[in-house]
Amino acid sequence: MTPTDIAISPRAQSYIDRFTHFLAEQVRPIEEALARDGLGNLTNPRLDEAGRMHPAVWEARRQVQRLSGAAGLYAPYASAELGGGGLGLIEMNHATEAVYHQSGLGLGLAALGWTEGPNPAIEHCSAEAREQWLTPLLRGEITAAFANTEESVGSDVLAMGTQARRDGSDWIISGTKAWITNAHFADVIQVVAVTEPGAGTRSLSMFLVDANAPGFSRGKDIPTILNDGLTGTLHFDDVRVPKECIVGEIGDGFALAMAWINWRRLCRGGMCAGWGKWLLERARSFAGRRESGGRPIAHLQAVQHMLANMDMDVYQARATALVALTELEPLGAYAMPLDHRAPRLISLVKLVNDEAFFRVADNAVQVRGAVGMLLGSPEEKLFRLARNLRIPAGTTEIQRNAIARGVLRQA
Ligand SMILES: Cc1cc2nc3c(=O)[nH]c(=O)nc-3n(C[C@H](O)[C@H](O)[C@H](O)COP(=O)(O)OP(=O)(O)OC[C@H]3O[C@@H](n4cnc5c(N)ncnc54)[C@H](O)[C@@H]3O)c2cc1C
Repeated sequence: MTPTDIAISPRAQSYIDRFTHFLAEQVRPIEEALARDGLGNLTNPRLDEAGRMHPAVWEARRQVQRLSGAAGLYAPYASAELGGGGLGLIEMNHATEAVYHQSGLGLGLAALGWTEGPNPAIEHCSAEAREQWLTPLLRGEITAAFANTEESVGSDVLAMGTQARRDGSDWIISGTKAWITNAHFADVIQVVAVTEPGAGTRSLSMFLVDANAPGFSRGKDIPTILNDGLTGTLHFDDVRVPKECIVGEIGDGFALAMAWINWRRLCRGGMCAGWGKWLLERARSFAGRRESGGRPIAHLQAVQHMLANMDMDVYQARATALVALTELEPLGAYAMPLDHRAPRLISLVKLVNDEAFFRVADNAVQVRGAVGMLLGSPEEKLFRLARNLRIPAGTTEIQRNAIARGVLRQA
């Protein structure tokens, strides 16, 4: 690895410059209108009576996504030949870091495709589905959800109960998915179901389900520590899907689910570096203003050590992501089949970042004293968010399993 391998490329820098401009010109006015209407922001979004994200907050996010799509900023990670930005893994890490650092907890976050956006798994869809779902997703015109987890099955993916059975050339899906992000709003659901019980990693398949399809229904909100009104349950009651809605081939579901999950795992690098830097800057600034014993707390060694620990955690997590991505870039992080060296590297990025960011968020609260406990403050929200990160897209224990498997394989 040479320093140029991890430097910001001109392409990534161009994305960052365009995003900076977009944030100031197009996102800020939407944020200000939301705040004026008393609907909160992404730190503290208003919820509706059913506990879901308030429709007006959701619509503000959608507006940002559509504008971002039109500006060519929404899916920089997606393949260029399909209409995405075609950025590589290291370029995406830099771009994500800039989006998170500059947006803080504002609506700018919605400008970069997230779990509701296009993803490496859906890129394997049929030509028909590309026109119906993928192209609008790439433009930010519709949103998606990834439905893998069930009430009694999370980490143990192959034990899922949702089934799809063949009927002529169609497939009929039945089962219930739980803990699904964007369950209340998604236009299309990427659902993983059992198509060949007992076939191990070939037992699952991925389907695209239209949210208007007969038999599909959305369940209640599942209130989480995030308090964002975005997580819920989805019911599939004999939902019929045509063969054009199979993603990849029958039997590819496990590999496709892992492609989606690995994409989420890798985003942790830029996310934790961007938010980590933001929290450190806010802590430094607070420590310069807040006084104890007649002088700013920044003069106290105890507080300086908290700042030093935050800097150390952000630095080592960022460095881990960039070095691991340098090794991953030639292997491909979403390839099917995936190179056997990739899972350890991907899990290193997620684990090191999730754990470091949790310590950063904890110190960010501690530096502020009671102010850090203020409900709805960025520090309080990011502390809850950091706690959450250690569970979705594979728990920290599951990451350690993958790292250990990689280490033992090397032997
Ligand atoms: C806010 C939020 C959003 C989410 N969004 C989505 C989504 O959009 N789509 C989706 O499909 N899912 C989503 N999930 C679900 C998430 O992916 C699962 O919660 C996660 O994979 C863990 O599964 P589980 O909750 O069933 O825990 P379990 O798998 O039951 O694990 C319980 C505990 O046992 C440990 N454990 C389990 N198996 C092993 C093992 N083999 N080795 C070591 N330790 C193990 C775990 O690490 C954990 O500590 C979301 C979850 C949350 C909280």
